[in-house]
Amino acid sequence: MPVFRTASEDETIALGERVAGMLPRGATVLLIGNLGAGKTTLAKGIVKGLGAAQPEEVSSPTFTLIHEYGAPPAVYHIDLYRLDSVREVAALGLDDVFDGPAIVLIEWGERFPELMPADRIEIRLTATGEDERQIDVRLPQ
Ligand code: ADP
Ligand code: MG
Repeated sequence: MPVFRTASEDETIALGERVAGMLPRGATVLLIGNLGAGKTTLAKGIVKGLGAAQPEEVSSPTFTLIHEYGAPPAVYHIDLYRLDSVREVAALGLDDVFDGPAIVLIEWGERFPELMPADRIEIRLTATGEDERQIDVRLPQ
């Protein structure tokens, strides 16, 4: 259960590239942390590490809910911040995405634990200073 520390946005992107190499095919990854903790930044690095897109092509899906990068099996980046009810999230039909071979990165998925796959990987990000972040990668039990 490694805990990492980064001191800049670029270091978090580089860590995301390393994390990408640790992910099994079809993994679902919950990115957990407050606004500004670096969830989307880490997602940029993971998407880059998976060879699906460059970091500057990865933007927050806060308003669009779901972004898809790369050729199948794609990488999905999902942000559930703006959704309030289990019904709204269930209507997205994420089960097909979870069950498929794509890597799925989700921000604010921990708000709907009953809709998340049991074998998810959880990454917790905490701001410990203006540019310092603690990033705790939890593999499934
Ligand atoms: P979230 O998706 O968790 O709301 P973002 O990744 O969108 O967070 O934003 C993180 C913000 O924090 C960015 O403005 C980024 O430049 C800044 N930042 C400063 N230091 C770091 C760091 N070590 N890792 C990631 N982001 C950092
Ligand atoms: Mg974000």
